[in-house]
Amino acid sequence: MAGTVLVTGGTGYIGGEVIDQLLAKGYTVHTTVRNRAKSEPKLRQRWATAGDRLKVFQADLMSDEGWAEAVKGCNAVAHVASPFPIGVPKDKDELVVPAREGTLRALRFANSVGIKRFVQTSSAAAIAYGHPEKDHFDHTDWTNLDAGVPPYIESKTVAERAARDWVAANAPDMVFCSVNPVAVFGPVYDDDVSTSIEIVKKVIDGSIPLIPNMGICVTDVRDVAEAHVRAIEAPAEQVAGERFPTSEKFMWIREMAETVRQRTPEYAKKVPSRPMPDFMVKLLAPFMPEMKQIKGELGNVRDVSGKHTEDVLGFKFISAEQTIEDTVRSLVAKGLVKA
Ligand code: NAP
Repeated sequence: MAGTVLVTGGTGYIGGEVIDQLLAKGYTVHTTVRNRAKSEPKLRQRWATAGDRLKVFQADLMSDEGWAEAVKGCNAVAHVASPFPIGVPKDKDELVVPAREGTLRALRFANSVGIKRFVQTSSAAAIAYGHPEKDHFDHTDWTNLDAGVPPYIESKTVAERAARDWVAANAPDMVFCSVNPVAVFGPVYDDDVSTSIEIVKKVIDGSIPLIPNMGICVTDVRDVAEAHVRAIEAPAEQVAGERFPTSEKFMWIREMAETVRQRTPEYAKKVPSRPMPDFMVKLLAPFMPEMKQIKGELGNVRDVSGKHTEDVLGFKFISAEQTIEDTVRSLVAKGLVKA
């Protein structure tokens, strides 16, 4: 069922993979970028053979300019763009406002031209936070904003809620669903690596000498993109209103380090093996933003199940070990780390 799909945020890690898979399946792709003069040459270089099947539009999440042109002629939208910074901003609205307003803008313009399929890239951030008593989550769970959560978590939760409310009130016949990835890893395309990839980079480049007692769920960028494409192609009744977490499994950072040692021993020279005591993280937190960010995660299991997504969309996720191996090999191959 090839057609034309708008993928917002074509410069991003996930957006790029979604475009890749759609072009490979014969779709025409419209994509939005913030700065067309800067980004279009890079995108044309990556998809050199796409020609007219790739159209690049300049559109910011915070402005109406460019959106009418971007949605024209499309049958579906994968709304991937959203701020995903490494640090924590002083003002949470730097993230919450563009995440929410950008999603509502994409929905409004999509609806104005009669687009009936809309897939939002949400996040496990909208599922698994603000519930200190719980450690296992699935597509039915929602982050509890009343518990007070970091700005990025809030931005993704607010944006997904706002999207669902808007569709219910304004476009009840639009088939809307979300893809909710956990931390995304996998092959990288260029040096503009996503925040999640920085974790593996730090494990292999020696910048963390000891391993903090924390873990994360792992998903592969290829599975995240495949979930988007399947959500666009599946029958309406299978996906309408759904949430599709992509998550292969929860891993402690020490298990990630062990995976690097076992699967890519040639790049494991700088991989730490000794644990960082929790008290050290807490002592360093006031001086180091990274330690401040992980302080609250020490010892926490936050395991989000992706089984529902595998069952409904009908595919099997790549193993977390394979994903870690492929991440390491591609970071080294692109010259992004000297392991
Ligand atoms: P990324 O590589 O940083 O991509 C983010 C994209 O959003 C970029 O294309 C960026 O454009 C665009 N963007 C940000 N602010 C914008 C604005 N004001 N106007 C227009 N575009 C804007 O990150 P990613 O990992 O691919 O993330 C993509 C989506 O997946 C986000 O919605 C993120 O929340 C979600 N997600 C990511 C992960 C993960 O671990 N990577 C996990 C769960 C969910 P520029 O290139 O111009 O900055």
